[in-house]
Amino acid sequence: MCVRSCFQSSCLQWAWRTAFLKHIQRRHQGSHRWTHLGGSTYRAVIFDMGGVLIPSPGRVAAEWEVQNRIPSGTILKALMEGGENGPWMRFMRAEITAEGFLREFGRLCSEMSKTSVPVDSFFSLLTSERVAKQFPVMTEAITQIRAKGLQTAVLSNNFYLPNQKSFLPLDRKQFDVVVESCVEGICKPDPRIYKLCLERLGLQPSESIFLDDLGPNVKAAASLGIHTIKVNDPETAVKELEALLGFTLRLGVPNTQPVRKTMEIPKDSLKKYLKDLLGIQTTGPLELLQFDHGQSNPTYYIRLANRDLVLRKKPPGTLLPSAHAIEREFRIMKALANAGVPVPNVLDLCEDSSVVGTPFYVMEYCPGLIYKDPSLPGLEPSHRRAIYTAMNTVLCKIHSVDPQAVGLEDYGKQGAYIPRQVRTWVKQYRASETSTIPAMERLIEWLPLHLPHQQRTTLVHGDFRLDNLVFHPEKPEVVAVLDWELSTLGDPLIDVAYSCLAHYLPSSFPVLRGQASSAHAEQTGKLTEFVSNLAWDFAVKEGFRVFKEMPFKNPLTRSCHTWARSQSQWYPIGTRSYSSVPEASPAHASRGGLVISPESLSPPVRELYHRLKRFMEQHVYPAEPELQSHQASAARWSPSPLIEDLKEKAKAEGLWNLFLPLEADPEKKYGAGLTNVEYAHLCELMGTSLYAPEICNCSAPDTGNMELLVRYGTEAQKARWLMPLLEGKARSCFAMTEPQVASSDATNIEASIREEDSFYVINGHKWWITGILDPRCQLCVFMGKTDPHAPRHRQQSVLLVPMDTPGIKIIRPLTVYGLEDAPGGHGEVRFEHVHVPKENMVLGPGRGFEIAQGRLGPGRIHHCMRLIGFSERALALMKARIQPPTAEGREQERGLRRPCFHWSCRVKSRVAFGKPLVEQGTVLADIAQSRVEIEQARLLVLRAAHVMDLAGNKAAALDIAMIKMVAPSMASRVIDRAIQAFGAAGLSSDYPLAQFFTWARALRFADGPDEVHRATVAKLELKHRI
Ligand SMILES: Cc1cc2nc3c(=O)[nH]c(=O)nc-3n(C[C@H](O)[C@H](O)[C@H](O)COP(=O)(O)OP(=O)(O)OC[C@H]3O[C@@H](n4cnc5c(N)ncnc54)[C@H](O)[C@@H]3O)c2cc1C
Repeated sequence: MCVRSCFQSSCLQWAWRTAFLKHIQRRHQGSHRWTHLGGSTYRAVIFDMGGVLIPSPGRVAAEWEVQNRIPSGTILKALMEGGENGPWMRFMRAEITAEGFLREFGRLCSEMSKTSVPVDSFFSLLTSERVAKQFPVMTEAITQIRAKGLQTAVLSNNFYLPNQKSFLPLDRKQFDVVVESCVEGICKPDPRIYKLCLERLGLQPSESIFLDDLGPNVKAAASLGIHTIKVNDPETAVKELEALLGFTLRLGVPNTQPVRKTMEIPKDSLKKYLKDLLGIQTTGPLELLQFDHGQSNPTYYIRLANRDLVLRKKPPGTLLPSAHAIEREFRIMKALANAGVPVPNVLDLCEDSSVVGTPFYVMEYCPGLIYKDPSLPGLEPSHRRAIYTAMNTVLCKIHSVDPQAVGLEDYGKQGAYIPRQVRTWVKQYRASETSTIPAMERLIEWLPLHLPHQQRTTLVHGDFRLDNLVFHPEKPEVVAVLDWELSTLGDPLIDVAYSCLAHYLPSSFPVLRGQASSAHAEQTGKLTEFVSNLAWDFAVKEGFRVFKEMPFKNPLTRSCHTWARSQSQWYPIGTRSYSSVPEASPAHASRGGLVISPESLSPPVRELYHRLKRFMEQHVYPAEPELQSHQASAARWSPSPLIEDLKEKAKAEGLWNLFLPLEADPEKKYGAGLTNVEYAHLCELMGTSLYAPEICNCSAPDTGNMELLVRYGTEAQKARWLMPLLEGKARSCFAMTEPQVASSDATNIEASIREEDSFYVINGHKWWITGILDPRCQLCVFMGKTDPHAPRHRQQSVLLVPMDTPGIKIIRPLTVYGLEDAPGGHGEVRFEHVHVPKENMVLGPGRGFEIAQGRLGPGRIHHCMRLIGFSERALALMKARIQPPTAEGREQERGLRRPCFHWSCRVKSRVAFGKPLVEQGTVLADIAQSRVEIEQARLLVLRAAHVMDLAGNKAAALDIAMIKMVAPSMASRVIDRAIQAFGAAGLSSDYPLAQFFTWARALRFADGPDEVHRATVAKLELKHRI
């Protein structure tokens, strides 16, 4: 990089590469926009700071030198000195502090000018509020760019001020992305910093325009494929930018553009008509502009003799009979003018097509703000709230109008509006359908069955959204509601629903433009498919929420649906073999029916399931032998690098943190937002490998601890512990069980937690603490007694203990049937005078029992889900073992491949006592028995998950206890039969069977002993069934 050329380039302006700071704010905010790009192919504008947004530092230096009688050019020369390794460049990469820079810089300036140079005074001027102010022309341009839905970024070489803040005298809220050299340690024209900026914008180089006053910086951007503008003065630069973007960047009449050629209307006849209408005599010009939104009825701004007017007309050409009903718009706005609903004042409806080619109406222009982007970028949350409150207030006003009182009682049909709407939508969709969209088919079946029972009839706007409202320029108040084309008498819910749509639509969803026959047809088709999937997903998930809020009676009286459908079309060869489960009909599923097969999941979750399945086959099963060898090697107490590698792969494929139930994380802030039933199917699949849960960051005990932090953690606790766990950078353990007491009863726990100044001091002896030996384990969720005299269930508390706190002494790893389960292990450990800050208490003293119950909520059945996975894999291995070999198995036999864990491989057709094993009656009986037991247990797991989704974890207590009682024993039996069929090999580590068996057996304790679950089932059975 030629730094010297930077400094020698055209003008002093360059000298400034200031624009500096610390944080990348609102990083992907632009991606939350509802893009409405007005035809522009660009999606972002990237600004340099000095010389582009604020005055050039070179210019500041020149003036300062004159005032201080310093030889001209001294500052610039000193800044250039040393090139890339000079003090200035190092300062911009934050390699030296402001003090260090000023010292070196002062010395250089003095040497060069042979006089003492007060560089501190230059620096203060440069960074002063008086000088470092944004050009108004740029502020205006940025506002317009953002109003069009494009993103904005500032990409500046800058430095840290002596107060440790970076120098960025700009309102950060104007930018979606801020990239500063001193924060990144890289300066322009290094290509990496441009790439970083694009990455944060989520854009390709060709989608953005970059403005800089420095030639080399512009050149570097251009060589990456970014469109560039070399800025000599801001005014000219804005003009160039306007030409590239194709819309005005000046605040004239907002949202207007010159009338397009195809949309021109005769000015003379219009002027004559308006003069008659307004009763004015004017020889002045008629100014005509076209509004750039309002897609169906062309809309014009007119200025004539100081009157600001709006004309809205039908489009030319043949129109559908009920479409573009401007007469209705005129009628309703006229009627509403005196009914308290803010509407523009309408002046006249002209049905004479000879004036402008089609009928039209004229109204007064309503000045104000129109917010086109529903995410309201750049506004404070309180301001955004006020705007949406104003929007809701005006909607209430519309719905409160008495149609009869304003003469609109015949403005639409009375009643059954929503069913009519749904029928119309279906008709319209069928009329333009080109291929089948499964989610749309489901919706078409689902919607009529789920229409609201109570239907009111009011005036409805029919297209009620933010960009159809004009707001007061200074206060959050709607001054006019526009675009009444779809208004009618109907159910007010429709406006509410439509108004909420923006909240659910994804970031980059474009406003639908064009008809099915237009050039946008393909895109429109894709959007339809996308929206169908979104709507179906919404219907299913909202359905769960509605069911959950229904009064809960008795868990045992709840019916779970089963359904019948020919399975063949849904189960291609090679899918899960327990395919006796038929497909759910959409209608059943949508009623909250139990989704018992992965193929019945909603399309996005089904896709996720198949992505996971592919990942297991391509990456996880093939890695098992190596992972297993690592666990048997001397390096076993260090994490396997292969696991870390696979974790990154899983993360990249979106197969990460799937476990957090939607109910605990409704905004999907932390996880995938799956319901328990959805996760059950995915968790079972992960359970087919001992390693997959960790690879997908879905393994115990982290999942339970993460859920605990999401549910009960403070923001500080979440920031410290939850985030690293969610990222898979840290691991954790849960310490409850103690050797000296029967720990299946948590009230027995004895470890003490004592208050001492600002600390809690813990002392206790714990064992079977899974994961505590893992070097990545940073957090121990500790359960102990804060008050032995409190009521039994109020004695325990939960503390978050950093693993590096002095006093934690690991005594030994325990083994399960000789297995160490490295690197996490199961440790015996003493806590001796461990001091933990008080803010590490979760929820508060005495709440431990409650937390332990909550922690084990969904986490309670994850083990059961995985146990179904163990069992499926064991049965598949057993079948492969006794059947004729696969091609892969034959290769192994010939020594071409290592024996693999994969369920479809086997080495040799096994014959005993004259018959292949597959023909032995007892083996067949074992297979049949295993299939039946797996299916029974799976149904019970899914039922528990389903009740948790519908009625909550507490209501599902019985179902949870039942499955915990059933799943480990069932898995032990199925795996045991598989081992038996394998012969001695089944006990070896060549296959996962022995390990599966060990963990299935251990889970008859680890998740609470069987007897405890049995006692719960009996207790609840007696309570509910007398
Ligand atoms: C592999 C593994 C991992 C584990 N990981 C953790 C961990 O990470 N953190 C942690 O804190 N603990 C962990 N544990 C410990 C586990 O939670 C306890 O073993 C379990 O709660 C039982 O407690 P206990 O061993 O003290 O048995 P006890 O409470 O002493 O019970 C012994 C036996 O008494 C009988 N019994 C108990 N209650 C009843 C009853 N109501 N009716 C009839 N009989 C009854 C049962 O047969 C039971 O097995 C793990 C255990 C294993 C095996």
